[in-house]
Amino acid sequence: MSFSGDDGAENPHKAETLLVTAGRDTKAQKGFVNPPVVHGSTVLYPTAEDLHAHRGEFQYGRRGTPTTKALQEALIALEGPQCAGVGIAPSGLAAISTTLLAVLKSGDHLLVCDNAYRPTRNFCNGMLARYGVETTYFDPLIGAGIAAMFKPNTRAVVVEAPGSQSFEMPDIPAIASVAHARGALVIDDNTWATPLYHRSLELGVDISMQAATKYIGGHSDIMFGTISANARAWPLVAEAIQLLGVCAGPDDVFLALRGLRTLSVRLAQHHKSAIEMARWLAGRPEVISVLHPALESHPGHAIWKRDFTGASGLFSIVLQPKPQAAVDALLDTVKLFGMGYSWGGFESLVIPFDCAPYRTATTWAPGGPSLRLHIGLENVEDLKADLERGFAAFNAA
Ligand SMILES: *Cc1c(COP(=O)(O)O)cnc(C)c1O
Repeated sequence: MSFSGDDGAENPHKAETLLVTAGRDTKAQKGFVNPPVVHGSTVLYPTAEDLHAHRGEFQYGRRGTPTTKALQEALIALEGPQCAGVGIAPSGLAAISTTLLAVLKSGDHLLVCDNAYRPTRNFCNGMLARYGVETTYFDPLIGAGIAAMFKPNTRAVVVEAPGSQSFEMPDIPAIASVAHARGALVIDDNTWATPLYHRSLELGVDISMQAATKYIGGHSDIMFGTISANARAWPLVAEAIQLLGVCAGPDDVFLALRGLRTLSVRLAQHHKSAIEMARWLAGRPEVISVLHPALESHPGHAIWKRDFTGASGLFSIVLQPKPQAAVDALLDTVKLFGMGYSWGGFESLVIPFDCAPYRTATTWAPGGPSLRLHIGLENVEDLKADLERGFAAFNAA
C-alpha cells in the first residue's frame, strides 16, 4: 500500500519523515498542518439517494472521523507496506482484548509467551476461558521449539518482545514461521520498541498492537491503543472493531497523532539516555544484573541487534539481596524517579516488580529484588545523582 503526502505523490520517505508528513491533508484541513479535533456522532447525507447508498467519506462518528483518518494514515505509513489497516482502541489493553476476540472462537487454543503483560494473561485466563478458549503459556526463549506446543486447534500465538518487566527476547521470525506453517496467526505486543524501532509486520507478525498510552502519546496524558494488521488479519480486526463498537474520544486521537509527530526525537533520546544509565548501573556494586537487550551482556542481545533498530527507555535491574525495607528506602529517597505505573512519557519512573507469583511456563528467580526503570528526558547526570542518593539509603538500611 502506498500513501499520499501533501503533494499527492506516492510517499517514498524514511520513517522519521513519514512520522512528520503522513496523514496530512492540507486541502481538507483548509491549509492547517493539523487535522481538526472532530467531536461528532451524526453525519448528514445530502440526498435520500446518498443515504440509501451510505455514500460519503464518513458515515457515523464511531466508524471514523477526519481526526482518526489522519492518525490511521500516519500509522499505516510508519508500519510499512505489509500494513493493510490500523484499528483504534480506547486503551492498550482494549487493543489486546479486541485483537484476541477478533481472531479466536470457542474451542480454539491460544499460545501466549510467559513474559506477556499481566493484564493480557488476566484476559486470557478470565474472559477467554469463560468463552471456551484454552490458553497455554510458553517460555519466551522457546524459538522454533514452539512447534511441540501446537495442537490441531491452535489458532494464534501472542508474543511480546521484549517482556516489559523481565526483558526476555523471543525469536519472532522463528516462532512466526512455525505458526504460519500450522495456519496460526501471530500477534505481537510491540509497545516497547514501537513500529519505529521494530517493524514486526515485516518479521512475520500478522497483528502488531501498541499501548499508545506509552511512547506514541509520549506525555503521560492519554489512554490509547492501536492495532496494525496485515492483509490476512485486517478483515478480522476491522470486523471485531465494528461489532464491538470500539472507538476512542477525539481529543485522545488528536493527542496520539501529536505524539506521533515527535516520536523519533523522543525515542532517540530515551534510547541514548537509557543505554548510558544501564551501563552506569551495570558498574554499581548494589546491582547484580541489568536487563536491557541493547547491552552485549543480555541473553537476547543478538536477537535485538537482528530484529530492532533501536531501544526505548525501559529496562530493569536486579539488586543485591536485601530486605524489602532497604528497597523501600531507595524508593522513598529518589525524587526524579517517580513511583508509578505506565511508562513512555517524558518523565523517569521506578517500580518494584516480581513475576514469580504468576509465571507458569518459566521460573522467575533473578537472585534479588527487581526494579523496573523508565529513563525519561531529564539530564542523565541528574538521574545518576538521584539514584546514587537512593543507593546510599539502600546501603544504610
Ligand atoms: C501499558 C501496557 C499495555 C496496556 O496499555 P494501557 O493503555 O495501559 O491499557 C499493554 N502492553 C504493554 C506491554 C504495556 O506496557
